[in-house]
Amino acid sequence: MASDYYNVLGIDRNAGEKEVRAAFRKLARKYHPDINRGEANATERFKEINEAHEVLSNPDSRRLYDRYGDNWRDAQRGGAPFQGGRRWRTETIDPEAFEDFFSSGSGGFFDSFFRTARGTRQRGPSAQRPLAIEQPVELTLEEAFHGTTRALQVAGQMPCSACNGVGVISRQACRACLGQGYSYQPVRGEVSIPAGVDNGSRVRVSPGGQQVVLVVTVQPHLRFERKGEDLSTEITVPVYDAILGAEAVVPTLTGQVALKLPPESQNGRVFRLGRQGMPKLGAPSERGNLFVTIRTELPTDLSDEERGMFERLREIRGNSGGE
Ligand SMILES: [Zn+2]
Repeated sequence: MASDYYNVLGIDRNAGEKEVRAAFRKLARKYHPDINRGEANATERFKEINEAHEVLSNPDSRRLYDRYGDNWRDAQRGGAPFQGGRRWRTETIDPEAFEDFFSSGSGGFFDSFFRTARGTRQRGPSAQRPLAIEQPVELTLEEAFHGTTRALQVAGQMPCSACNGVGVISRQACRACLGQGYSYQPVRGEVSIPAGVDNGSRVRVSPGGQQVVLVVTVQPHLRFERKGEDLSTEITVPVYDAILGAEAVVPTLTGQVALKLPPESQNGRVFRLGRQGMPKLGAPSERGNLFVTIRTELPTDLSDEERGMFERLREIRGNSGGE
């Protein structure tokens, strides 16, 4: 069947757009039917060169060709690898490339739902790749803890069905897509957001060829304060438990744990509970600490009996309570 387009043009698989164009021009001049009248081989060769150029000069069709080879048009028609929401989810986050997908950036407060993308792709000599659209996503701390999913709809770049994404039909610019080779269609899908994301975490997905960067904001929590992988919280304990020692119940993001308070625990003392903090991004089995600050609660509405006992305690401690 068709020869390898790169061989046809005599270029390397990594050749840039300029090299593709230069190789095409050189060969087209050489094999042009006007110059090689009556030579069947030359005509055939010219067609091949033309075809190779049409496919390789368009980044989208070239990408398909690189991936599917001679079957690239079928792959494109079938559409499964590029248009299906299911497939998209699995391509969403590549655990082997976490470094790329997540990096700290500026946070900020945004709407809690995805906005529909209105991104436009810019094309020009210097813009070979689609610009990434940034989409804010706001999560609860619980969602950041467990990981979650979000529905996402973007204007995805889809290969033009009229020209199979080539942009050219019979050497004329395709009218359906104005020679662009693609059109924008709504693409829906579900994005997995991994456990451990924090303010400013960026999750990159590519639905329909459109790069989307989700910028995460985590809502403040009523009970837990977060600092990286560590959480902190406060618990109130009766003063008697603080003095005599007791087992206190500490809420966590997954339930509660018991904290053994030693006798004479001071108000404001901080206890560290290992592995009760946030999961580490990319290694969710590792977790940060939970720091628990003790607030002692003094009794009110004392009975006469209790008041008498406190007076007795004060006498024993040798404090008069006033000068
Ligand atoms: Zn078209």
